[in-house]
Amino acid sequence: MKSIKTKILSIYVFLIFLIFLVASVAIFNQYSLGKAVNGLIEANYRSIEASRNMINAIERQDSLELIYIQIENKQCIKDFQENQRNFITWMTKAQDNITENKEKGVLDNISEDYLKYTEFFSSLQHIKSTSGIEEANKYYSNKIYPLFLNIKENSEKLIQINETAMFNSKEEAIKNSKIQIYATAILSLLSILIGLVVAVVFTRKIVNPIRILIEGIHSVKAGSLSQEIYVSTKDEIGDLAVEFNNMTRRLNEYEKSNIRNLISEKNKSLAIVKSISDPIIVTDNNNKIVLVNRSAESLFDLNESEIAGHHFLEFIENRIIFHRIKNISTGVNTEEKDKILELNKNGKKGFYKVTVASISDDSGSVTGVVTVLQDITGIKELENMKSDFVSTVSHELRTPLTSIIMGTELLLEGTLGNINDDQRDIIMAMDEDSKKLLALVNDLLDLSRIESGKIKMNYENINIKEIIKNTVRSFEESAEDKGIKIYCSIPDNLPIINADSNKLVCVMNNLITNALKFTERGGEIKITAAYDRTNIRVTVSDNGIGIPKEYHKIIFEKFVQVDTKSNNNTGAGLGLAISKEFITRHGGEIWVESKPNCGSSFIFTLPV
Ligand code: ADP
Repeated sequence: MKSIKTKILSIYVFLIFLIFLVASVAIFNQYSLGKAVNGLIEANYRSIEASRNMINAIERQDSLELIYIQIENKQCIKDFQENQRNFITWMTKAQDNITENKEKGVLDNISEDYLKYTEFFSSLQHIKSTSGIEEANKYYSNKIYPLFLNIKENSEKLIQINETAMFNSKEEAIKNSKIQIYATAILSLLSILIGLVVAVVFTRKIVNPIRILIEGIHSVKAGSLSQEIYVSTKDEIGDLAVEFNNMTRRLNEYEKSNIRNLISEKNKSLAIVKSISDPIIVTDNNNKIVLVNRSAESLFDLNESEIAGHHFLEFIENRIIFHRIKNISTGVNTEEKDKILELNKNGKKGFYKVTVASISDDSGSVTGVVTVLQDITGIKELENMKSDFVSTVSHELRTPLTSIIMGTELLLEGTLGNINDDQRDIIMAMDEDSKKLLALVNDLLDLSRIESGKIKMNYENINIKEIIKNTVRSFEESAEDKGIKIYCSIPDNLPIINADSNKLVCVMNNLITNALKFTERGGEIKITAAYDRTNIRVTVSDNGIGIPKEYHKIIFEKFVQVDTKSNNNTGAGLGLAISKEFITRHGGEIWVESKPNCGSSFIFTLPV
């Protein structure tokens, strides 16, 4: 069979044939039963009718004989003969219609008796004419009447035989009809069973290849591209299976070539990552090591083959790096700034900037983390050298500068003799410049010492409110001189923090000095603080000249000053740099929010 259509049609044709078969058998049974019953009843009925007519005829003949004995009448003889013909006609009909076994014997007897009966009538005629009525009556009583009774009895017997046969036929017909009902029911049942079996077998034959095909498609969907299916049928499903196998073969080849490309690309990337001079560590989202490059191997004294698949902390006991990886992989704090770490490499100190980035899949969920430790030891060393140099120079300049200031002050006080006004002006200018220079040198020295880590932090439990209040108090006089109002609003419930109070005083000094410096007479300065469960946030705002946006980021770098024409700034641009260093050392942050001509707000946070 070629097509599914032909197969389905065949099933239908077969089922229709079964229905036709059952219906034909049922109709035939019905017909033959009806016919058999009809035939039987008709034949018996004909025999009964014949017997009745025979009885009628012979009774009539008997009566005619009696009449004949009493009154001789030609009409009697004529009627007798007429009835004789009738009798013989019906007897012949009965003989032609023998349906029962016993019928023949009875009819033979009747025929034999009737022959005698007709002969006896002839004898009666002779006896009457020769011996008279008396003798004729005797003859009748002795010979004819018993024979008449015999014939009548046999005819009635014939009726009885046929009636019994009719009754039996009815019983037989009921029995047969029952058998035929059973036969039809069994045939119908068989047909239903065969129909069901054929339908199930054929449907299975059609559906099985489809199921194999569906299973094949599922396997391909699950990624098994080497999947081949075998369908033996030569119909449309068979063709589909062949095409399916062609498709999976093509897909397989395509995937293999794709995998080859991917592997080669991966190897290239791996070679690049491996050869990068900065240490790189790749971890999965369970913080297990996936890859380390050669530089990371040598920094942490590891072997990639031994550590791959192990937890980060099993081999790299650096909680700071791990903390950052964990934060990134769990998405807790993805915007942490790059950290600089001091690590030992082959017994030597090195500085590394830790940059951590997440690897995400198409859906955006993190599948891994890349940690790059940028080796900034060289830069750090250079910075240290610079700081050392600045520190040495500042230190060396401080002593002579102090002497110069002391000298100018002595001269101005007149202890060393009187000086005229011109001399005083020159010495005052020298004194002022020397003091500015000393302030700059002091700032430089502070900054270089902070940067080189020479300034030690003295952490203690402090109340920030007091520090702020004391600092503000020290500025009240100068603010009043400048006609600027200072408002200080600090809540009482700020928590005690662990910090270096001197450094915080220095930061507050810088911010308030700047606010005073860059606010016009009549302006105001507000100092506020707030606590947000993790940090204390202090804000110093003024309504002074403000800072343009492009300076907001760089203002905290060394020597950066806003370029304004009306700038009467006498500083060197180091105050904010020093403040930032101090706040960063506390683990906090500092930034500015400002608009030119509207004022500035300097905000810093301190972790609690
Ligand atoms: P200095 O004040 O000694 O110049 P700073 O580092 O303290 O150095 O400040 C750097 C620069 O930032 C200042 O020169 C000034 O241009 C700008 N600045 C700082 N604070 C303010 C302020 N409150 N309003 C306007 N400009 C400011």
